[in-house]
Parts: sequence; C-alpha cells; structure tokens
Amino acid sequence: MSFAIPPPPTTPLATILPTEPLLLMGAGPVPIPQAVAQANGVIINHLGPTMDRVIRNVKQMAAYAFQTRSDKIIGLAGPASAAMEMAVSNLCWPGRRVLCLKSGTFSGRLGEMAERVGAEVVYVCSEVGRPVTLAQVQKALSERRYDVVTMAHGETSCGVKMVELVEICRAAKEHGALTIVDAVVTLSAMPVHMDEWGIDVGVTGGQKALSSIPGVSLCAFSADAWNAVEAHPKPQPHWCYDALLAQRFWGSQQYHYTAPVPGVLALHEALRLVAEETLERRFRRHEMSSLAMQAGLQAMGLTLFAPEDVRLNSVIAITLPDGIDSARLREYMAKAFRVEISGAFGLHTVRVGQMGEQCRSHNLFKTLYAMGMSFSRHGAKLDVAAGMAALEQGLAGDHDNFVE
Ligand SMILES: *Cc1c(COP(=O)(O)O)cnc(C)c1O
Repeated sequence: MSFAIPPPPTTPLATILPTEPLLLMGAGPVPIPQAVAQANGVIINHLGPTMDRVIRNVKQMAAYAFQTRSDKIIGLAGPASAAMEMAVSNLCWPGRRVLCLKSGTFSGRLGEMAERVGAEVVYVCSEVGRPVTLAQVQKALSERRYDVVTMAHGETSCGVKMVELVEICRAAKEHGALTIVDAVVTLSAMPVHMDEWGIDVGVTGGQKALSSIPGVSLCAFSADAWNAVEAHPKPQPHWCYDALLAQRFWGSQQYHYTAPVPGVLALHEALRLVAEETLERRFRRHEMSSLAMQAGLQAMGLTLFAPEDVRLNSVIAITLPDGIDSARLREYMAKAFRVEISGAFGLHTVRVGQMGEQCRSHNLFKTLYAMGMSFSRHGAKLDVAAGMAALEQGLAGDHDNFVE
C-alpha cells in the first residue's frame, strides 16, 4: 500500500518542553496543585456510578464556591469563553435586549456573544482603567427596558474590579433584568455570593482563580435564569451549549456528549482544595498575597495601572516604564529567571497574576525578584531590595496562610 502523505518527522514532547518548566505568573493558566495534575491523568467511563458520584461532588462543591443553593450547575467542555457562551446563548435570542457593561476585552466579549445569537445589544463603556459605575447603569436602565445585563466581576485585561457589582445586580433585578456575571478571576479568590447578590448566571473557567486546568468550565443558573432557559425559542442554536441538553448529564446522569473526564476529575480536586481551605481563608490568602505583591512592586518604583479604589487583586496590571519593550522584557525574564508574566491587550502594561497557586510565598518572592531584575536590566531605575523588603513585610505574620 502506498500513502500520498508520508509519516512526518516526530519530536518527543519531552524534547519540546523546557527541562525546568516556567513558573506561570501571568493572567492564566496558573500553576496547578499536585492533586489536580494527578486527577488530570486519570480516565474513567463518563457514565456510570463512579462518574455520578464525581459529578454530584463537583456540583456540591461548586455551589459552595458560588454560594448558591441552585442545583442548576453545569460543567462544560471548553474554555471559560464557552461557559460565557452557554450563559449568553441560553438567555439571549432575537428580540431580547441586552445591556453589556464593558470595561475591557472580557466584559465586552459577553456583548459580542449576545450579538451573535441575534439579541439587540447596547454597550455601556467605562473610562479606561475603571469599571462601569452604578450611576451609568441606572441611567441606561431608566432609558429603556432590558432583559439581560452582562458584566465581568474582574476585568483581567486591565486589572480592574467592578466595585459596585452588588448594587448593579440589585438595580438590574429591580428593573426585571437577568444578570450574567463573569467570575472567572474572582470565584474562590474574593467574595462572590451568587444568591445573596442576585447573580442569575455565574460563570467561571478552570485555569484562573480555581487553579485547575483549562478546558472545563462552569455555569451556575438561578431559578429565574432557568425559567428563561426553558423559555428559549426552540431549537437553541448551539447544540453543545444548550443548557437543557447539558442538564441531562449534569442533572440526571444521561448522555449529552462525552464529558471531558480527566478535566472534570481535575476540577473535582481543585474544588475540593477550595472547600478544604475554606473560602474565608482562601480569600485572606489571595488578598494578602496580592496586596503584598502590589506593595513590593510600588516600593521598587513601578507604577500600577489601575487606581487603588478599583484595583483587582487577582491580576495586577503594571504600567510599563518608558522605553521598555514588553515582549523583550518578558522573554528575558523567562530565560533568566524561568518566570512568565503576561503582556496586555493593547495597553502599555504587563500583568502579573495572583490566583490560586500563584499566591504562595515562594512564588511571590521568585516573581518579584525576577521582575525587579528584569525591569532593571532593561533600563528601569528600580530599588529591587526595597521592593523585596516590602513584600516580606506584607506577608509577615501570617506565614501559615501560605503553607500548601
Ligand atoms: C481568561 C478570562 C476569560 C476567558 O477565558 P478562556 O478560558 O480563555 O476562554 C474570560 N473572562 C475573564 C475575566 C478572564 O480572565
């Protein structure tokens, strides 16, 4: 037999990957705990009693993370964007009016998705480096009627948090609109109280605050949101993201599509670690870690992009000092220190993550040192020692919080 296409030259993965992996300190993916990595290497049948137990646990632990009594919690194969797409495509359709609160790439993506399923979308845009405000939302809601309001709790692209999220959700509910909240970088890193705050659909991915792997994401629907899901004109345009079909698997253990089994097992372990740490302690660890990192960066002489009153702790955006090239800086940092941070979406910043396993003292010291030395090497006038001292001071006194 002859084959038109000969076998290509092959390269074992081990020769492609660096011998010492880079420390992932960017905006995601983030380092994963050993238990998550191990679970990700396991495959079992996606149907049957073992998987049923796993799914029940994942839903229960996810309900804790979201702080919801809803049992309409659906995991899906796909990035966080797929969970956003599930939320949007089940609540929005032609004739529905959507108010998209946009302060950057991710919050804007929800609006793009709503347009694609035929909804009429109006954007309320924030000032650059600030979140959309309650006053802006109230004004928009007073002008027209909306069915759905979308927003991101943490806007990763610029390191900004929606500080009036609770009030905005309340205003939306009073207006009679459903709320979709992207909690990808905030769920399990800072308080998210889905039921209490009136969030109708909460969305997260694996590879950010939860410190799991990318590719398995979560969508939690309130009772009001589920009524809208059931009222969606048939058929829903997306077969994979149809929440009613997905609920067959996540609600009654029947086949929808083959679940991404290793990723679900990994998510199980990530959520278990959240529950064991408890949200209270996990929030404290994240807050302390990020504030110490922010103090260190500033004591070195760097400027943070987002003003303090709206600064997101999960992802810190740093204004690039004049004359420093982001790509060259980051390439040097990876080579010299084996630490990787993120560039930006069009802004003159670099971003350092403070999510999940990133918030461990050994990672913080290594990263801040790497950043200080790399910025200095590329021409910034920094006091690296002062920064390291400020980091140490910020973490002092609560060492136990940072032990894995
Ligand atoms: C990363 C991110 C997303 C998208 O996640 P993907 O897994 O890349 O689809 C959405 N929202 C926010 C706030 C994010 O940080």
